[in-house]
Amino acid sequence: QKGRGSKWVILVTGGTGLVGKAIEYVIENEPAGSRFGKRPNEKWIFASSSEADLRDPAQTRKLYEKYQPTHVIHLAALVGGLFKNMKYKLTFLRENILINDNVLHASYEHKTQKLVSCLSTCVFPDKVEYPLTELNIHNGPPHESNFGYAHAKRMVDVQNHAYKEEFGCNFTSAIPTNVFGPHDNYDLEDSHVIPGLIHKCYLAKKNKTPFVVSGTGKPLRQFIYSRDLAKLFIWQLREYDDVEPVILSVGEDEEVSIKEVADAIVKAVGFQGSYTFDTSRADGQYRKPASNKKLLSLIGDFKFTPFEEALNESVKWFLENYNNARI
Ligand code: NDP
Repeated sequence: QKGRGSKWVILVTGGTGLVGKAIEYVIENEPAGSRFGKRPNEKWIFASSSEADLRDPAQTRKLYEKYQPTHVIHLAALVGGLFKNMKYKLTFLRENILINDNVLHASYEHKTQKLVSCLSTCVFPDKVEYPLTELNIHNGPPHESNFGYAHAKRMVDVQNHAYKEEFGCNFTSAIPTNVFGPHDNYDLEDSHVIPGLIHKCYLAKKNKTPFVVSGTGKPLRQFIYSRDLAKLFIWQLREYDDVEPVILSVGEDEEVSIKEVADAIVKAVGFQGSYTFDTSRADGQYRKPASNKKLLSLIGDFKFTPFEEALNESVKWFLENYNNARI
């Protein structure tokens, strides 16, 4: 099997975030030597921004000199909700371009054997045929609300191809759908839908106030549990050797409505007060399904955690870590 034998030093940038922490959890908790568990020839390093600010080429180079990574999972990014993306388009564009350029070039200079960078389904064109597939990333402008972030991420795919063609680098990328799980950003103003609603529902229970969900609850989304996504990243690092990206997602038939999300949160939090939908608030797109056909055709057998089970684990983590979570 690939990766057995030779020594691997695996650097995870953004190793302290939602996805990075999930990879660390899987590596430590899956049986050693199993498909997703730690292998004896592997050393894993989870880097935070305090260790190296990757917007800075000198700090990036120093990080690579310190660890000499043979393999890199690149997750570090300036990430934010809709509001922040709309307000700070240039900052999202520029900081992510800097981070990605520094990491890709340091990986080239240090002869990193494999680099998997993280994109997002936000990179896809606004006007596009559904389901989204790996083939239509560049076929039209992204939604204007997040064009800074989206263009910076798209450039990673462009650079991966250029590094491969000019220098033969083994660089590739992953495209996850909406992620949730322990260590998420549970901020009320600037979070994604699941952590935001968990926090809101918790406060409604604590303060005995109504739990009001924005919109009709009808839109459908694909959510992936961070610990499932972690396994898919580990698989992609170890077993996938092609420059073309892979969408890492549950299937199109596993879309969940916002109402189903809110129902599951109400149950998991144990909220018994008034629970309503504020239909005067915008819903966003009804659905934007992404296909996981390519992933399934390559990975073979993979079992996603059932949504409710994953949600219960996330709520449990939030309640147990309320004092030190990002809120
Ligand atoms: P988080 O916000 O939870 O974590 C971001 C990570 O990036 C942190 O470890 C942070 O370090 C690090 N980071 C940020 N800026 C810098 C910097 N200048 N230098 C070094 N490190 C930095 O994000 P997620 O885990 O949610 O996201 C991981 C990846 O997944 C990102 O590339 C994101 O675009 C992508 N993604 C996320 C989705 C989601 O739903 N969450 C969906 C699709 C893609 P520190 O905490 O130490 O500051």
